[in-house]
Amino acid sequence: MDTISIAIDGPSGAGKSTLARSAAAQLGYLYVDTGAIYRTIACHMLRNGIEPADAETVTASLPQIQVELTYGADGLQHMLLNGEDVTSEIRLPQVSACASVVSAYPQVRSFLLDMQRTLAETHNVIMDGRDIGTVVLPHAQVKIFLTASAEARAKRRCLELEQRGTPEPYEKVLDDIQRRDWNDTHRSTAPLRQAEDAVVLDTTTLDFAQSLAALLQIIKEHV
Ligand code: C5P
Repeated sequence: MDTISIAIDGPSGAGKSTLARSAAAQLGYLYVDTGAIYRTIACHMLRNGIEPADAETVTASLPQIQVELTYGADGLQHMLLNGEDVTSEIRLPQVSACASVVSAYPQVRSFLLDMQRTLAETHNVIMDGRDIGTVVLPHAQVKIFLTASAEARAKRRCLELEQRGTPEPYEKVLDDIQRRDWNDTHRSTAPLRQAEDAVVLDTTTLDFAQSLAALLQIIKEHV
């Protein structure tokens, strides 16, 4: 079966997951959040007291990790780490920071590559991440680079944290976002960058509904 792949890349907090999930639901495609896969690897390191900066130990521990992606009755993507559901745990701030560090290791990236490609070979997907259009699915029919200013992303993140009952100061949130942007764009393996044939969607001044409409319009023009 020939499948359709839609690749969405962009920096942390640009709204990729929420927008991609909604677009996938409307189109009947499988939504794959690849950040969650890196977060699951990070979760293993934290649980086992492995220092993320210790590349050798991180790499050596990969064979002990079994990562599985399942879809719950709720239709949402669940992550299993050696059989245990870690879907909530991977959203903790310490997991974000750890994922940002361990995702820079080429061994970690190649460990997860097949899993991502197999999903796209067997389903119509909207896959979001940092290197989907450039490395994972270079032949995707549609590539979108979804971005927004760091300040806009920090403001949205603050609102989300507040609604979750775990508020954090704006300056700290902005600082975290800028640190993750730097890590993602400066690593030597599969850095975050716009694919040459990607369409840029900047949501700095758009609300959710406007962003979703713009995203669906780009998809419609290409598929
Ligand atoms: O997208 P999310 O913030 O959940 O991703 C967590 C971390 O995983 C990011 O900070 C990024 O460093 C890494 N990541 C990556 N490549 C992807 C998806 C995520 O390096 N395709």
